[in-house]
Amino acid sequence: METHFKTIGTIRSCYKEKFGIPRQAGLVPTATATLELLPPFNRAEAFTGLEGFSHLWLLFLFHGNNHQGWKATVRPPRLGGNARLGVFATRSPFRPNPIGLSAVALERIEQHAGKVILHLKGVDLLDGTPIIDIKPYLPYADAIATASGGFAAEAPMGHLAVHFLPQPEQTCQALEKDRYPGLRQLIIDTLRSDPRPAYYQKNPQKSCFGMKLFDFDLRWEHNDDGITVIEIHPSHS
Ligand code: SAM
Repeated sequence: METHFKTIGTIRSCYKEKFGIPRQAGLVPTATATLELLPPFNRAEAFTGLEGFSHLWLLFLFHGNNHQGWKATVRPPRLGGNARLGVFATRSPFRPNPIGLSAVALERIEQHAGKVILHLKGVDLLDGTPIIDIKPYLPYADAIATASGGFAAEAPMGHLAVHFLPQPEQTCQALEKDRYPGLRQLIIDTLRSDPRPAYYQKNPQKSCFGMKLFDFDLRWEHNDDGITVIEIHPSHS
């Protein structure tokens, strides 16, 4: 059976490229996004009652996969990138249907001038992600206290210390004051769980990495003390 889904809205996220995005929703509680509903789904009545829920399930398309298709087995980063597991035993983006599922925090619902915008936190979503459905998170049904978590029983440790060189520290403070409240904590939370591919975690011959966050480029270095943020500057693309 071929099925056609409608995009009901689009994510605007602080994460502008795939590298550096948390590997699961909720791992970086300070990661913010908005979801703007598209017509005809931007009708206020379609959201009546949603404000009573602290969390939502988002169903979305992995639109940044560049039509790479799927493989029956994948190498989860959690297992160091070596062991292969069946795709259906993982949350890999490369699936027969590129559909993702994230439980995110609902901060508030904004409605004005015919727009409906959901303000979200704890996202693991690329900017521009198309959303195909929203469902309330039901603690009584969705949080199963006795569930076992297979190879991913525990949340990955966000154990790295994150320091800032003086220049990026200053830039970060200015950005935080001007436009991005909470930016410093977002950077720390995003980097402390080590976005590097598993290969580099085991072979640290490359120590500098970078990612786009909001409208700037962030660069950091791995060293014996953990991570040092070495540059924050406006992004040119
Ligand atoms: N929570 C979802 C799930 O379980 O289906 C996604 C988990 S997946 C392991 C998370 C990764 O998907 C992120 O680290 C990011 O690299 C990637 N990602 C997020 N949004 C994406 C998008 N729109 N297109 C392609 N990849 C995306």
